[in-house]
Amino acid sequence: MQLYDTGMKHLLEPDTWKSLKVWLAEHDQRAFRAAQIRKWIFEGRAESFEAMSDLPKALRAELAGAFQVWTSKVVRHQKSADGTEKLLLELNQPPPNATQGVLYSAPEQIECVLLRDGERRSICISTQVGCAMGCVFCASGLDGVDRNLTSGEIVEQMLLLQRLLPAEERLSHIVVMGMGEPLANLDNLLPALNEASADDGLGISHRRITISTVGLPKQLDRLCELNTRYQLAVSLHAPNDELRNRIVPVNKNIGLADILATADRYFDVSGRRLTFEYVLLAGINDQPQHARELAALLSGRTALLNVIPYNPVAGLPYATPSAAAIRKFREILVEAGINVQFRERKGDAINAACGQLRRSTPGLSQIVEATTTPC
Ligand code: SF4
Repeated sequence: MQLYDTGMKHLLEPDTWKSLKVWLAEHDQRAFRAAQIRKWIFEGRAESFEAMSDLPKALRAELAGAFQVWTSKVVRHQKSADGTEKLLLELNQPPPNATQGVLYSAPEQIECVLLRDGERRSICISTQVGCAMGCVFCASGLDGVDRNLTSGEIVEQMLLLQRLLPAEERLSHIVVMGMGEPLANLDNLLPALNEASADDGLGISHRRITISTVGLPKQLDRLCELNTRYQLAVSLHAPNDELRNRIVPVNKNIGLADILATADRYFDVSGRRLTFEYVLLAGINDQPQHARELAALLSGRTALLNVIPYNPVAGLPYATPSAAAIRKFREILVEAGINVQFRERKGDAINAACGQLRRSTPGLSQIVEATTTPC
């Protein structure tokens, strides 16, 4: 991505590392400097070129004039008592040393989340500004989609969340389940995930990276061709097309049969166990007949079903099912032999739970709630 009119390149764009090597050669610098800089970024958690203490001072200053490390600014950082932390980022920021520059559009905002669970340090990252899928219960798609994030902006979320950890802790898992439909931005997502899994990147195993989708068969087939090393999670949210068309409107053009057939192909090619996600909405998709239909739909598949009791979103008319409804739903699935887990609602005190990420600053009540939550 070219930023403003300063001619600076975003260092975290995967392609920029090639440009950096050329730049270093043009500036009579040894080739190993590129690896040194990469190490500072991914392992050393350096904030700037200035912090890269084993580079000559003059070189650091020259690099800072040619490459921009951060293009996003943290405009809010919330912490929850369960260890979850959420960042609201403003994108496309000018470099700190910019003396001129034209902002091409108004600042855009996205959110990303760090989750702590035992030894796990997972992050949930966004792939688009907004979302076009229109799932009725979700905050992320309330205003539609503005644009795809660049690879660099996706990597930047990973690094900003990594920096929330103490030096001795590492990120262990990535779920691409934040704002946006990841398969609608596959061309930028895959290079970013390469950086996450690279030995000289974040070094996170492919097995610990999950791409979550509502199920876009064409793009899923492309993923099969391009890269089948990641875990795949398909968000169902309904056991039949009639109900899914209402909850996940994009389903009208696709249908469950196609989605499941493509997911099965991904399993055949990758050998990775599939995960299906099901957000449980009170009075909508949480009835015993829905559980029975869901069991029939998934039976015979090597799959895990994640059921997530709904996290309420301000302004939307959906509610969390009662404990009794959740218990009954679970019983039916377990009796039918479905490999099911009911996910804990981590982060909902700060609206960081599934389906709650949004691009705008929340109302004061939400800020007070978040900042008064002990961490
Ligand atoms: S649940 Fe996911 S796919 Fe659906 S609108 Fe929200 S972000 Fe988009």
